[in-house]
Amino acid sequence: MIFKLENSVNQQVDLHHKNVELYVKREDAIHPFVSGNKYRKLKYNVLEAQKKGIKTLVTFGGAYSNHIAAVAAAGQLFGFKTVGIIRGEELWTEIDKNPTLSFAKQQGMRFKFVTREAYRRKTSADFIAALKAEFGDYYHVPEGGTNALAVKGCEEILTESDQVFDYVCSAVGTGGTISGLINCSKPGQQVLGFPALKGDFLKSDISKFAKQSNWELITNYHFGGYAKINEELVAFINQFKTDYQIPLDPVYTGKMLFGIFDLIEKGFFPKGSKILAIHTGGLQGIEGMNALLKKKNLPLIMS
Ligand SMILES: *Cc1c(COP(=O)(O)O)cnc(C)c1O
Repeated sequence: MIFKLENSVNQQVDLHHKNVELYVKREDAIHPFVSGNKYRKLKYNVLEAQKKGIKTLVTFGGAYSNHIAAVAAAGQLFGFKTVGIIRGEELWTEIDKNPTLSFAKQQGMRFKFVTREAYRRKTSADFIAALKAEFGDYYHVPEGGTNALAVKGCEEILTESDQVFDYVCSAVGTGGTISGLINCSKPGQQVLGFPALKGDFLKSDISKFAKQSNWELITNYHFGGYAKINEELVAFINQFKTDYQIPLDPVYTGKMLFGIFDLIEKGFFPKGSKILAIHTGGLQGIEGMNALLKKKNLPLIMS
């Protein structure tokens, strides 16, 4: 175990007269920097690296990645050197203007900025050989952090007392988190995934890890694609914070809860349903998104 505070709290969202009950599992509160599903996904990977005596973690991501921020912080907390392979060669001049990268740098992460084309080849043998030559022996944490050990960590999100819920909802990026949720859900529970991006590769990715079939993807709340947002979503996130004192991130949890509220309005959930939405964290991304919104003169996310 790497953090003591593993059991997060389920906070009720009061929906007066909607005939369903909604709770939010506050995984975002596990740790200020290694929050939500990124903690779950890193836990057994960090333990594995420690067991093997490897001192460096290498991982991959975009300039605003929650995963990059979490790996950098975990490295700082548990005594690993960290290296982030960042998509976008031009970004090395932007480190100090980018809240995610400057945070990661503060936590001791070293960066290697690569072109989008090179980034696409990041799992090829020659790319990996070059990394080994540059950084020595390292533990490979895949982009987005999903592997079998990550899924194992996410199988610890639901506890005994969560068996009362009929639906368990999660945002989906690479599918590791929802796979863990599916594996620890009870057969009578339905697991709903809300992809934060377009594309239908996710179903087969999830099927690689998921051991049950009680799940479904709700694919119409991605708002145009990964990290795409609009004023309606920003307004929803701000209203949600005002009404329930729960901050949501714009890339994942905001879209999921927007979707859940919309499905409730449309009568998707049978009367009396108990719904558990997993707050997978990602709040570090608000600052970077606000900088982009500000440039476009759009309303900002309250923080
Ligand atoms: C990374 C992330 C996800 C996506 O998790 P996957 O396991 O890649 O599907 C969801 N929510 C938040 C807040 C994240 O940071």
